[in-house]
Amino acid sequence: MANAVYVWGLARATGRRVVLRIEDHDRQRSRAVFDAALLEDLAWLGLAADTEPIRQSDDWGPYEASLDGLRGVGLVYPCDCTRATFAAWAREAGRAWSGGGCPGGCRERGVDERPGVGTRVALGTGTEVWDDERLGTQRDIPDRDGDLLVRDRHGNWTYPFCVVVDDMRHEIDLVVRGEDLLDATARQVRLGRLLGREEPPAYYHHPLIRKRSGAKLSKSDGDSGVRDLRARGLTAEDVLGEAAAAVGLLEAARPLAAADVPELFG
Ligand SMILES: [Zn+2]
Repeated sequence: MANAVYVWGLARATGRRVVLRIEDHDRQRSRAVFDAALLEDLAWLGLAADTEPIRQSDDWGPYEASLDGLRGVGLVYPCDCTRATFAAWAREAGRAWSGGGCPGGCRERGVDERPGVGTRVALGTGTEVWDDERLGTQRDIPDRDGDLLVRDRHGNWTYPFCVVVDDMRHEIDLVVRGEDLLDATARQVRLGRLLGREEPPAYYHHPLIRKRSGAKLSKSDGDSGVRDLRARGLTAEDVLGEAAAAVGLLEAARPLAAADVPELFG
């Protein structure tokens, strides 16, 4: 819920609207029941979005159209790399794969487009620069992990591709997300540029909730356990206060009303 505190707080404090997007691009992993639970948790906390939830699975057309545009300029290629390809590369090199393209050199080899084969977009080289509203100006290379897989070999669209397409079509001008995604930003800025977005959105990468040991808290540790906290009798104000304190927005947990969250960013 720390992410929700940041999203709503920053949006309200800067006069922006909150766009709620259900990221169900992966048909194998998405479960409508989880979406419903998330929406219910947000409503209980008093965090209302300014749009109806937008589901990626409602219309694959925008992703198809974006991919077609990139294909038209010769940046799309089929990739038949599997886990074994990555493992073989790592055995030979003595380290995990990283670098341009893909470990199997699929663009150079000319792999046929067929079922069971993934799709990559060539990102090119150079450096991307963007503004992070918390961390300042950031510079990074977009192709450290090679070209971007936009469709996996099961035919699922991938997260980094979908969110860049969505951020453009929904005119998102501020992306608020956890620091764990900082490394993914340069390639998303580059992909946006290739799709015609000259000016990247502003980013705000917030701290993650950490256990006392410093390890990142996972969902199983209760990071998103609004339901459990509710069952233990905590109020929505208690839960928001706990979440804000866990990421350092409050010095100590105290009840925090949804309407008062923007003041944390004043
Ligand atoms: Zn490949």
